Amino acid sequence: MITTNEEVISALRSVIPESQVTINQTILEQHSIDESYHSASLPDIVVFPTTTEEVSSIMNIANQHKVPVVPFGRGTSLEGHVIPYDHGITIDFSLMNKIVEVREKDFLVKVQPGVTRSQLNKELKKYGLFFSVDPGADATLGGMAATNASGTTSVKYGTMRDQVRDLEVVLSDGTVIHTGNLAEKSSSGYHLNGLFVGSEGTLGCFTELTVRVYGIPEYVMAARASFETVNDAVEAVVSILQAGIPIARVELVDEISMKQVNLHSKTAYKEQPTLFLEFQGNEAALRQDVEFMKEIVASHHCEGIEFETDNAARNQLWEARHNLAYAYVHGHPGKKLMVTDVCLPISELAGAIAHAREALNLLTLTGGIVGHVGDGNFHVLLMIDMNDAREIQKADEFNELIVMYALERGGTCTGEHGVGIGKQKYQEKEHGKALLVMEKIKQVLDPDGLLNPNKIVKIKK
Ligand SMILES: Cc1cc2nc3c(=O)[nH]c(=O)nc-3n(C[C@H](O)[C@H](O)[C@H](O)COP(=O)(O)OP(=O)(O)OC[C@H]3O[C@@H](n4cnc5c(N)ncnc54)[C@H](O)[C@@H]3O)c2cc1C
Repeated sequence: MITTNEEVISALRSVIPESQVTINQTILEQHSIDESYHSASLPDIVVFPTTTEEVSSIMNIANQHKVPVVPFGRGTSLEGHVIPYDHGITIDFSLMNKIVEVREKDFLVKVQPGVTRSQLNKELKKYGLFFSVDPGADATLGGMAATNASGTTSVKYGTMRDQVRDLEVVLSDGTVIHTGNLAEKSSSGYHLNGLFVGSEGTLGCFTELTVRVYGIPEYVMAARASFETVNDAVEAVVSILQAGIPIARVELVDEISMKQVNLHSKTAYKEQPTLFLEFQGNEAALRQDVEFMKEIVASHHCEGIEFETDNAARNQLWEARHNLAYAYVHGHPGKKLMVTDVCLPISELAGAIAHAREALNLLTLTGGIVGHVGDGNFHVLLMIDMNDAREIQKADEFNELIVMYALERGGTCTGEHGVGIGKQKYQEKEHGKALLVMEKIKQVLDPDGLLNPNKIVKIKK
């Protein structure tokens, strides 16, 4: 059936208030990009639902008219995830931003998908609780679940997949399902939470999430340890982890990136390869762990370690780390951000970072190396001039070199940012025949290929 935009708009306006359906040019443009270097493409229509019923009606209409649909959280993803290359309807979840229920005693919270992580943490603080996953952008819980996001605390608490207990999902035909329950564990049925988390809007729209939260720790100590070389810093992390020291955060920031941190955050940290560390727990046990950690970093040529137990100084330290990608963006006006995102077994990490440095030199590219190194995940941040075809080609070549290095050592092309369109070309190499299983799952759940088409897997018509 061939339908016009006008017919789709009028159908949408018959099920949701007129003000929530728009073709305003500025709003279309806001939904044509993410925060990456991938090129823009406009949706035809943007809708702002407020309830699950409205999302279900939108999917029914999309299905009836065979119009593509892209779910949109905050558009902070980095691989073109939300760019509607097939046009159609973008569903913006920003009006579905209620914290539905805090189940304090169960350490669970039920939220709508448009709730952002900072909004949730502000509310949870009243209960002495916090939500652990903290990507560098103030993303929505829906977007974070859809990309299986992680952040600085994942080395202790895990990724989004470890937090999600249940998702309410609207499928491509408008059916509403729940993928889990409130129980701490379950052996019942297939693990649909695991399947839908990380599905990047290609299998359904999340309309409610139940996630795990944690008690704010009794005592927290943060530290900055500087090293002569990146290799020393990485080897120190590997030794800390292998010694079984329970670390809550450990982030690598190389020398170039420390300069960006100081420029952007008005700090005066040493401009050397640095580890940002955090320990959480009760004071006595934690002091023992820290003493042990100090011995380990000293044996890896640590040149200085400074501790922050004061709340304000600690917050400044982590804010500076969180703002790092934006520090690069603001420090290079007119250029676009390309971030690599490989993740490897921890024993392969030092080699992978050394290889990334060599590849940067070989291709005469400048890039900062940072990472959630406790998970074996690191990023190289490149600022690219999109008018310079040679620079784009070199950046692509660089990305490919380090992805291949990771895949050959049992790693993955993306530790946390997701596939979108940027990492699609590596899916076959990474998953082999398992990619066919993923294509079959997509076919069953979305037979017309309407949901975020051609992301993760290509639609075969
Ligand atoms: C400066 C910066 C730092 C970052 N740091 C990190 C980091 O440390 N760790 C990390 O993991 N990521 C990081 N990211 C990437 C990004 O923030 C995450 O991928 C985040 O999870 C995206 O959330 P969002 O709300 O912006 O989602 P969007 O970008 O809007 O969408 C992301 C994907 O989720 C889908 N989606 C959105 N909402 C729904 C829904 N309700 N139902 C179904 N699908 C949905 C979209 O279709 C899309 O495929 C960073 C990004 C920036 C710009």
